[in-house]
Amino acid sequence: MKNDRRTLFAGVDIGGTTTQVVLCSDDLTVLDRAEVATPAARGGTAMVGAALGALAPLLARVPGRLAAAGVGAAGVVDPVGGRILVASDSFRDWAGFPVTDTVTAALGVPAFLDNDVNAFLHGEVSGGAVRGETDVLGMTLGTGVGGALWTGGAIFAGPHGAAGEIGHIPGFGDLPCSCGGRGHLETLAAGRSLTARYAERTGRRLTAREIAGAAEHGDEDALAVYRAAGAGIARAVVMTAGVVDITTVVVGGGVSRAWHLLEPFIRSALAADPPVSGHPVRLVRSALASDAVPVGAAAHARRGTTAVVGV
Ligand SMILES: [Zn+2]
Repeated sequence: MKNDRRTLFAGVDIGGTTTQVVLCSDDLTVLDRAEVATPAARGGTAMVGAALGALAPLLARVPGRLAAAGVGAAGVVDPVGGRILVASDSFRDWAGFPVTDTVTAALGVPAFLDNDVNAFLHGEVSGGAVRGETDVLGMTLGTGVGGALWTGGAIFAGPHGAAGEIGHIPGFGDLPCSCGGRGHLETLAAGRSLTARYAERTGRRLTAREIAGAAEHGDEDALAVYRAAGAGIARAVVMTAGVVDITTVVVGGGVSRAWHLLEPFIRSALAADPPVSGHPVRLVRSALASDAVPVGAAAHARRGTTAVVGV
């Protein structure tokens, strides 16, 4: 069977509540997938063990040879050492955990670790909405706001792994942020921030999705909350374009499901205050949705183990 010689790459997304695993061909087509609950309260060994447990039946039923595995995880990571450096309080014994050593010991192949937002952007550039592009800002609007940079055809992580963290720089008002700072984009554009901003105006606590529904019915407070989010995102795009000259921004995460609502607000703010270069920035929504992180992790594994230049 020729498929027995097929090269496979595994991609893992360890999220706060669920862990997704995919098995990809060498063109990053998803051949098989699984999802398990993340045992975040039980520590790093259990979390990586759950991911490997979900991957095992995929490896048993998909013919081919596993070449490498990539892992995307929330928090600050050391991509060279393959460890988690800083993790949220919801993960027990995760900071310092040797992710890639554990995966390599279990699977016998090279393993790679990325911050989940970097993996999201790597996925979208490799096979998603910005395929083949060289200079892109990636933003994820979820519980928080994540950012990542792809410049000159590669992730630019910076010396501390913190490049592109557009969700946590000041200049977006003066509201307190989840990180302890003030006036960050996250206070306007994260899901829980939409809830908080709407509650301040109306006294009612709705989810981001419910607020989007209210906006569609002409609720002025709901529209104002999404307009402020869109204006904040546009400002972040202009700031990034001015510093690193990106051509494109790709937006993902749960809040981007209200793209029909968000996109016009971002575009009108960009039109009113465009990048100083005079070059417009292309604005697109994630195409891979929840597959972006695991496919991006697999893309990193492919890039790390193949001599062929590609993404
Ligand atoms: Zn912040």
